[in-house]
Amino acid sequence: MKTERRQQIYKLAAELADEFGKRAAIHEAAGTFPYENYEDLRQSGYLKLSIPEEYGGWGASLAEIVAGQARMGEGCASTALTVTMHLSQIGRAIQTGNWSKAQLESVLHNVVTKGALLNNAASEPATGSPSRGGIPTTTATFDPTSGGWRINGRKTYTTGAPILHYFMITAAVQHPETPEGTPPKVGSFLLTREMPGLRIEETWNSLAMRLSGSHDLVLEEVQVGPEAYLGPNQKGTPQQQACSGAWGLPTAAIYFGVGRAAAKYVAQWARERVPNSLNKPISELQHIQEKAGQMELALLSAENTLFKVTELASDSAYIETQPARLAALVGATKYLVTNEAIKAVDLAMRICGGASLSMDLPLQRYYRDSRAGLGNPPMDDATILALGKLALQ
Ligand SMILES: Cc1cc2nc3c(=O)[nH]c(=O)nc-3n(C[C@H](O)[C@H](O)[C@H](O)COP(=O)(O)OP(=O)(O)OC[C@H]3O[C@@H](n4cnc5c(N)ncnc54)[C@H](O)[C@@H]3O)c2cc1C
Repeated sequence: MKTERRQQIYKLAAELADEFGKRAAIHEAAGTFPYENYEDLRQSGYLKLSIPEEYGGWGASLAEIVAGQARMGEGCASTALTVTMHLSQIGRAIQTGNWSKAQLESVLHNVVTKGALLNNAASEPATGSPSRGGIPTTTATFDPTSGGWRINGRKTYTTGAPILHYFMITAAVQHPETPEGTPPKVGSFLLTREMPGLRIEETWNSLAMRLSGSHDLVLEEVQVGPEAYLGPNQKGTPQQQACSGAWGLPTAAIYFGVGRAAAKYVAQWARERVPNSLNKPISELQHIQEKAGQMELALLSAENTLFKVTELASDSAYIETQPARLAALVGATKYLVTNEAIKAVDLAMRICGGASLSMDLPLQRYYRDSRAGLGNPPMDDATILALGKLALQ
């Protein structure tokens, strides 16, 4: 039964990916957002993957989501990234239990019945990557009259901004009862698209993930009720931290998908390309075969690490006994998968030759999109340091 469901999810991801892949070049050329991908996702039910069955979702395991997202990354990595963030934020909200029951049920109901999308908007111009621990300049000021909050600020890199219904934002919490000199607390709030004062500024003009609509989210005097406050951001126990971090694995999976797509494309290319100096396909040349071997080696290393660490992250005994190791391994997986995918795309382009630079072939998109992995947390330097510290303990 489990194998059957895993295959169903993978098959659906493959169908969606292939359709999205056909549309990606058209949207990139036109500078448009692929809204229809989200309609397909809604209709297919894929957006409820990480919602437990008791709430009307599919209750997919982390391993099933990682496998599905790796396949989806082969089509349109931008769409896959938006979907990953949505699925992972839901997964985290359920796992941590930080949200109120009412808040969680309401969001899950809207995802299940309307295909509402959610993402976390934490990055800001001042903080850079929030994974570094910078305090948000976005503020949430308590209003003693209403018991609610007034929110002001600007978030960058809000992936999926054109189609998100829910924006989970971080803010420095300002409460009148906080004693002077107390360091600001960081809390999270759940905002909805239609709230007055919330708007999207279309700033996303990026080399990579061009179709992700990762625009700025501007918050001007957004008034929210007390229920919008999800609570202070807490690290949690080492086990909770490891589980939360493990929801980064579906992001790594996308970059593996990008590398795999490049390898598939170039294999076909090499079989069909017959220069008249050779009168046989370039796939028969030794230096091309060697490059293809190196490319497969990179992908093998990425794939094995991705699925092995996903397995560890699904093992409750391992989480319980080795949370710090698991957290470091999850970071290392993101590092390895991203960098090996970049290597695989580079090799695919070398096999293809000059045509790899053509805007009419997809290799240039894989090249650009694979780079984006470097900008998703955890950052490479932090990963290596954590791994090194662990090794020396
Ligand atoms: C495609 C894409 C989608 C994204 N989607 C989202 C999203 O949906 N929501 C969201 O909140 N964020 C998102 N992000 C943003 C991401 O999480 C980072 O905030 C963003 O990439 C900026 O990180 P940075 O390291 O370049 O920051 P910067 O602060 O600009 O860093 C500049 C350089 O300095 C280094 N540096 C900065 N601070 C430190 C430090 N304290 N210690 C050591 N080195 C440091 C960095 O490593 C980097 O080399 C997305 C990013 C990308 C690329």
